[in-house]
Amino acid sequence: MEFWFSELHTPNFTIKVKVKRTLEVRKTPYQELAVLETLDFGRMLVLDGIIQTTEADEFIYHEMITHVPMFSHPSPETVLVIGAGDGGVVREVLRHPSVRKVDHVEIDEAVTEAARRWLPTISAALDDPRVTQHFTDGVEWVRRAARTRGGVYDVILVDSTDPLGPAVGLFGPVFYGNCRKALRPGGVLTVQSESPWFTRRAMLRSFHGIRRAFPLARLYTAHVPTYSTFTWSFTIGTDGVDPLTAAVPDPLPFETRYYTPALHRAAFVLPAFVERLVAAPEPDDLKAELDAEVASEKGV
Ligand code: SAM
Repeated sequence: MEFWFSELHTPNFTIKVKVKRTLEVRKTPYQELAVLETLDFGRMLVLDGIIQTTEADEFIYHEMITHVPMFSHPSPETVLVIGAGDGGVVREVLRHPSVRKVDHVEIDEAVTEAARRWLPTISAALDDPRVTQHFTDGVEWVRRAARTRGGVYDVILVDSTDPLGPAVGLFGPVFYGNCRKALRPGGVLTVQSESPWFTRRAMLRSFHGIRRAFPLARLYTAHVPTYSTFTWSFTIGTDGVDPLTAAVPDPLPFETRYYTPALHRAAFVLPAFVERLVAAPEPDDLKAELDAEVASEKGV
């Protein structure tokens, strides 16, 4: 008998992965969690029916969401990681020798428990003494951090689920504004900003939200086989430092499998239709939505 996991993108388009065995399936207080052993991608973490990471291709996403912003900052010491319950982003952050402290804020402790049990190559670094784990809402964490004058963090990385359920607030202009305030001068924010294909609206919401909050916003992409609807996007926001001209050490101080200094720059070269999407002004309906969110936060 054959068992297949299907991730449904639209009623007409699905990604199917052949499954060897099911290691865990449970409902957490926030989402439905599954860890599956697949034939081609090793173990795979799934939340609410959506592939989050796999042992085989996780390095691409985790290196690209982490090293592009970390090498865009001259010496990141204090880092906030939001979401990322599997531990992959924290692992990559800790490879930077300048890092002294990492706050890891994940809303769902069950994700981290499952990663510790089934995905040790991804989660192992969570026990590093520089890491403090906080099982709470990243939106509220950043709201509080934004009250510290002068900022708290050098880099903030948001490795969230898609903008559904508890992750909705992580895609909002108010959250991005608070990220800016929570960053020290020269600080850098990077978020996973969905795909220009089936989740284009969410990508533009992230991009424009960050562009409103930061003097400089840029989109870059990477190819992750199990996010295979198209190339995946990330958005970086800075207070003016351009990640394109960052002094990325060459050779790198540690070995990577996807990220390279040349790829750091190349990742910002976008396909023409994506370049046009982000160069265009905010679509009217998105503008109205973002304005309303900012106004409701201010109590207008
Ligand atoms: N790389 C993955 C992707 O793009 O599909 C995301 C991986 S990681 C498992 C996403 C994590 O974000 C989940 O564990 C989820 O619990 C967490 N998350 C969602 N909303 C959150 C919030 N408001 N605060 C903190 N963590 C949140």
